[in-house]
Amino acid sequence: MTRAAAPAVARVAVPVPLPRLFDYLAPAGQSLPPAGSRVLVPFGRRRVVGLVMDQGHADPAAGHTLKPIERVLDPGLIAAGQLELIDWCARYYAFAPGEAVNLLLPGALRRVRAFRAPAPAGVALTEAGRDAELSRAPRQAELRERLLEGPLERDKLLADTGAGSDVLRRMERQGLVRGVELEQLPAARPGPELNAEQRAAVAAVLRRRRRFAPMLLAGVTGSGKTEVYLAAARRILDMNRQVLILAPEIGLTPQLVRRIEARLGEAAWLYHSDLSEGERLATWQAARAGRARVVVATRSGVFLPLPDPGLIIVDEEHDSSFKQAEGARYHGRDVAVLRARLAGVPILLGSATPSLESLHNVERDRYELLELPRRAGAARQPRWRILDQRGSPAGLDAGLIEAMQRHLDEGGQVLLYRNRRGYAPVLMCSECGWQADCQRCDAHLTFHRAGKNLQCHHCGSQRPQPPRCPECASPGLIALGAGTERLEEAVRERFPDVPVHRVDRDAMGGKHDFERLLEQVRGGEPCILVGTQMLAKGHHLPGVTLAAVLDVDQALFSADFRAPERLGQTVAQVAGRAGRGDRAGEFLLLTRHPEHPLLEALGRGDYRSYAWALLEERVQAQLPPASALALLRAEAHEAAAARDFLRAASGRLAGRGIDVIGPLPAIMSRRGGYWRFQLWLQAESRAALVNRISACLPALHDMDSARRARWHFDVDPLEL
Ligand SMILES: [Zn+2]
Ligand SMILES: [Zn+2]
Repeated sequence: MTRAAAPAVARVAVPVPLPRLFDYLAPAGQSLPPAGSRVLVPFGRRRVVGLVMDQGHADPAAGHTLKPIERVLDPGLIAAGQLELIDWCARYYAFAPGEAVNLLLPGALRRVRAFRAPAPAGVALTEAGRDAELSRAPRQAELRERLLEGPLERDKLLADTGAGSDVLRRMERQGLVRGVELEQLPAARPGPELNAEQRAAVAAVLRRRRRFAPMLLAGVTGSGKTEVYLAAARRILDMNRQVLILAPEIGLTPQLVRRIEARLGEAAWLYHSDLSEGERLATWQAARAGRARVVVATRSGVFLPLPDPGLIIVDEEHDSSFKQAEGARYHGRDVAVLRARLAGVPILLGSATPSLESLHNVERDRYELLELPRRAGAARQPRWRILDQRGSPAGLDAGLIEAMQRHLDEGGQVLLYRNRRGYAPVLMCSECGWQADCQRCDAHLTFHRAGKNLQCHHCGSQRPQPPRCPECASPGLIALGAGTERLEEAVRERFPDVPVHRVDRDAMGGKHDFERLLEQVRGGEPCILVGTQMLAKGHHLPGVTLAAVLDVDQALFSADFRAPERLGQTVAQVAGRAGRGDRAGEFLLLTRHPEHPLLEALGRGDYRSYAWALLEERVQAQLPPASALALLRAEAHEAAAARDFLRAASGRLAGRGIDVIGPLPAIMSRRGGYWRFQLWLQAESRAALVNRISACLPALHDMDSARRARWHFDVDPLEL
């Protein structure tokens, strides 16, 4: 049969977990929509929103089953560059092409129902609006409050206040607001004088402003990386190009956003999962139209449409929240680098504790290294000390108490880091040795005293605290170890006159609680902060003079080869909280293994030489980033189903240049009632690994055993 006889079709990405696109005919009486069009298509008994990825000719055999596209919703909505990016990602990360719909379109555009594009004009308060009685319309009052400072862009106003566009329309109808053309924003406020290294880093970015150039900005904590981002961004904006700033989930604080806006003299458009669908849509549309010149986003923002990007910045590039843990398991930082390459623009990856991946790329001359080796302004690096815990009883260490007292007496603030929520990680019977374990996971339940319950931190299951041992009925249940809740209790007992604040997911109801607390702490009164990772990351707390990490020992003996890297990053980040103001800082590391070589290396207070040593070990062991690694994970209620699938898959995946190891049980072999196994796929060449996986994917889907287990590939996995 000749090619001309096969009907022309649109290849459509449909949001289903199958490894293929679906062919559709043009809508009745119309021509085929171009690639990038948002379309409504029949799928099984449903109608779904899909994206045209390509045009082509149908397989002649399938001709009679082809259905037409029901409606073209937005022709050519997604630019070719974005389609290319997704195509590459789907292949590299081995996710279903249908994920393109989820990654490229905000939620509001994935719906079957049509959406209305909001008017792009600005909006201003009228005289009537200024005087109107709005005590019974709190939403309107909130909008007015924002508009009292002057006219604002409509989308920005809605995004800031979280109000729906219906509220604004009502106010417009009532004559309380009117549409206006916006004037230019006020000129950018100058930042602090940059030091020589900061100026050199900005100059390096600007020299490469017209081409792809990945740069690692490695600056010790407090060295003023953000000022480098902002100075470079300002110059790129002057060239009338867009700037995309990606930050970890936890880093998108209002404080950072206000600082960006003030320094750049630009509205910063936000894009992250805490926003409503309307807010995300507003940013998406403003970005696509080029109206959003500065976008600050978490990892999903890497797929935002930007017609004219000039610079991409990834702050805290080592942070694991850039890696998506389900669905399309992509790494936001790595996709950002690819995006910069496709767009031909520079990309700046910043961190005080760079990932070994990025250092490896520096070593191979793929990334340029820009260094900020000293703290900006008057602040100096804190003094380090390792406190030997051998032989000291449980509870607060005497050396720690002495240091805390000293710093508090001198008017300083104290930060204690412990990476465990709850009261105690283990509840045990003193008579028979019974321990409270999760029935669905291979894990202990954590005792939460405030909630009087036991919680599994892996699957989320909960049960009430048992009054006595379920095995032997003894009332002698003892809580072993300490989480932040217990640590807070011990600290309050020992320092009854000092305010103690606990910072973890249980204590902080939301982002606003946390932000309020940070404001209070920045007031500078002596206090003690007890918290988890939430507290360790990137917050500027100039009053903190003593920081301590209380539990490093577990990470020293972890089965995960990435554990030492994460340990070093956490320790350096916590240490970096101390002494950022004008007073000298001190950092303490508490351990029962002071002689451990990792701690000795860390104890020298130099993350970078520690990281180079770790990288050398990885190279010796041929582990990532010195080799390419992917996991094929499978889980099932019956262990055999997961294992059988992996065994069968192993036979297909093995090939020249690819080592297939397993099936092995996952480090947590049971979770949420599922037995978990994995295959390790390792290769010297990334391309070989990715090609092999993508060639095998359709066949794996067709195997009988594939239907008896849940499974997925994780390329460049961060968790084992
Ligand atoms: Zn017992
Ligand atoms: Zn569990």
